[in-house]
Amino acid sequence: MAAMTSSERPLLNRRLAEFGTTIFAEMSALALRTGSINLGQGFPDTDGPEEVREAAVRALREGRGNQYPPGPGVPELRTAVAAHQQRRYGLSYDPDAEVLVTAGATEAIAAALLALVEPGDEVVALEPYYDSYAASIAMAGGTRVPVTLRPDAGAFRLDLDELRAAVTPRTRLLLVNTPHNPTGTVLTRAELTAVAELAVERDLLVVTDEVYEHLVYDEAEHVPLATLPGMRERTVTIGSAGKTFSFTGWKVGWVTSTPELVTAVRSAKQFLTYVASGPFQYAVAEALALPDAYFEAFRRDMQTKRDILAAGLTEAGFQVYDTAGTYFITTDIRPLGETDGFAFCRSLPERAGVVAIPNAVFYDHREAGAPFVRFAFCKRAEVLKEAAERLRRLA
Ligand SMILES: *Cc1c(COP(=O)(O)O)cnc(C)c1O
Repeated sequence: MAAMTSSERPLLNRRLAEFGTTIFAEMSALALRTGSINLGQGFPDTDGPEEVREAAVRALREGRGNQYPPGPGVPELRTAVAAHQQRRYGLSYDPDAEVLVTAGATEAIAAALLALVEPGDEVVALEPYYDSYAASIAMAGGTRVPVTLRPDAGAFRLDLDELRAAVTPRTRLLLVNTPHNPTGTVLTRAELTAVAELAVERDLLVVTDEVYEHLVYDEAEHVPLATLPGMRERTVTIGSAGKTFSFTGWKVGWVTSTPELVTAVRSAKQFLTYVASGPFQYAVAEALALPDAYFEAFRRDMQTKRDILAAGLTEAGFQVYDTAGTYFITTDIRPLGETDGFAFCRSLPERAGVVAIPNAVFYDHREAGAPFVRFAFCKRAEVLKEAAERLRRLA
């Protein structure tokens, strides 16, 4: 029940009323209470590279970033972000005018939407969506228009006709996420080309969340939307150190875009945190310059973890969707004789000592997400093996 004042007016405003406590809080508490393995929330159970941690310590000791860093981010990090985009993708950004450092991708998403969306504007987003998207669209006064990814030949795919049909004269921007949380889908070059053509044809802005850019597996390829024709000038690309370097608590993210779009996003960002994570910005600048071998080893390690968990889930009787990227496997619980992901996830700790997340929380069309359950595999191999062992009790 929402708290009321004496005038019976709810304390929480109308824009946020639909967003209760996140499922992650409920499920993490449940994991603690039942001694379960928590494969709910997506954070690694080991820290990132020692030299990056040491770089943060050094910055802190040397007094770099202990006072307010520059509003756009420290020059070392902006330069490193630009160099990373150039080296990986051949994208050129001016570190002074086209890069903005944020308090994680979360702030970048919020600032982009607060800056670019007028009340009443429609924002088309892929469903299931990362939970902060819905809240950020709501805070900006926008209307979210979900386009549902649907299972097709073992993976969740974007229906391009549905996407096209979702765009109206009121659409202001497309909010894209690839590699995609929670489905593990990596949009293909062909799919992204169609998204780009639509954006150009309808003159839409695009905000693209690419925080899992380094976590793509097998033959999958991460294609930044900004590399496609006509896209650099209309795309706000969001990256983050949290997932790439396994320091999710540092909250260092960034935006790359045109000077005009970066200026707009900064206008909102400066009144959210103004600045954040001073010493960590220097450490992330060093991390981004790590040799390709780091990124490749990290990717391979995560791919091995995916394989351990996928095998365990398959053996336990779940239908396991292909995971081409991210930290997450989405499963279908119907082969286990279950249909309601919420009820299933609430009972799973008692039944098997494992915590997972019902994908329905990431949907407006809850029924479309009902039978899907997400498991995180960014955990130590022995933890995943133990989880797989426990899940076998369900079979
Ligand atoms: C984790 C995550 C974020 C948040 O990143 P931070 O840098 O921790 O704020 C944003 N988008 C997606 C899809 C994520 O999974």
